[in-house]
Amino acid sequence: MREIPSFKNLVLPLVLVGALFIAQLQRAQEKIPTWVFEGQIMGTTFTVKAIAPTEPKLELITDALEAVNERMSTYIDSSELSQINQNSSPEPIKISDPLKQVLMAAKKVTKQSQGAFDISVGPLVNAWGFGPNKERKLPSAEQIAELKELSGDELWTLETNHLTKLNPKLYLDLSAIAKGYAVDQVAQALEKAKVERYLVEVGGEIRVKGLNANQGDWRIGIDRPAPNESRRKFQVINLHNTSIATSGDYRNRYIDQQGKVRSHTIDPSTGEPITHTLASVSVLHPECMYADAWATALNVLGAERGLALANQLKLAAIFITREGINEKALELDQESTRYVAVMSEAMKAYLASRTDQ
Ligand code: ADP
Ligand code: MG
Repeated sequence: MREIPSFKNLVLPLVLVGALFIAQLQRAQEKIPTWVFEGQIMGTTFTVKAIAPTEPKLELITDALEAVNERMSTYIDSSELSQINQNSSPEPIKISDPLKQVLMAAKKVTKQSQGAFDISVGPLVNAWGFGPNKERKLPSAEQIAELKELSGDELWTLETNHLTKLNPKLYLDLSAIAKGYAVDQVAQALEKAKVERYLVEVGGEIRVKGLNANQGDWRIGIDRPAPNESRRKFQVINLHNTSIATSGDYRNRYIDQQGKVRSHTIDPSTGEPITHTLASVSVLHPECMYADAWATALNVLGAERGLALANQLKLAAIFITREGINEKALELDQESTRYVAVMSEAMKAYLASRTDQ
């Protein structure tokens, strides 16, 4: 799901390399140019399109992205989060305001999703080979049981600006929420610079504001959730002043020795990668941080429970499932695979409200 297809990846160290270009597009019907910025961050790509009379400073964007990465990456040993993970003291640890904001949001989604979203699954993420150390060795049942003991919302508290680890081995992983937060931070930086029309995308999580260059809603493609098909779209939707994030098993996954597909989304209740027929979930939310976290939470819950919770909480979500497949196996996602979409009531209402824009 993105305007420009890109790798959906984990939060990696900041490497702002490669393609970074600025294009100025003049539209016949409009004199205001679109400024496009592209680059790499957090092990993935970012794209910013800003519609403004004068060119926004590139540093507005890169500084906001770097600041989030330096605080919240588990791939940077010296990041604020990594330092907390390395700290085994039972004493309260002072944390920055941005980190507090994200941790509070994470706790909120954990509570509301009954533990489906849980940033303390970090040790399990790593054990299944999806962390900074990408060793693809399947953990044993004993190891999983042991690591499950380390995850749980009750193992850490947040008060004023202090985090307390109730288990010294607690290891937090913000990969499922930090990209969304980074999008929000870039959006905020653009607004501070008086840019009121933009699209910000980091690793597929998107936030839009105002009208696009054609004076309409921003049109965002939701991927057909098949591996290696990043350019095929399942559906294109119109967005206005909101964010969209997608969680899926079709990008970051591997096939183990038994031929089972292992996704990077862990079900905290089993300690194992999710194994249902849901291929992707996209969630709308005014804040991209929440869209990001909820996409992962609903993905863990699966189509049925996820849809029920989305309806209960009035979340706009679209679930894309594989039809006629009971268990994930190698023969998944062929040309013949059928994908079926189910939408929450709030998503149906949103899309109906934007169709004529
Ligand atoms: P997706 O877009 O597929 O949700 P994200 O990058 O947003 O991908 O989130 C996936 C990452 O979140 C995983 O690589 C892992 O680090 C972390 N994660 C896995 N399972 C959970 C979970 N149940 N709750 C919170 N974070 C998780
Ligand atoms: Mg996510």
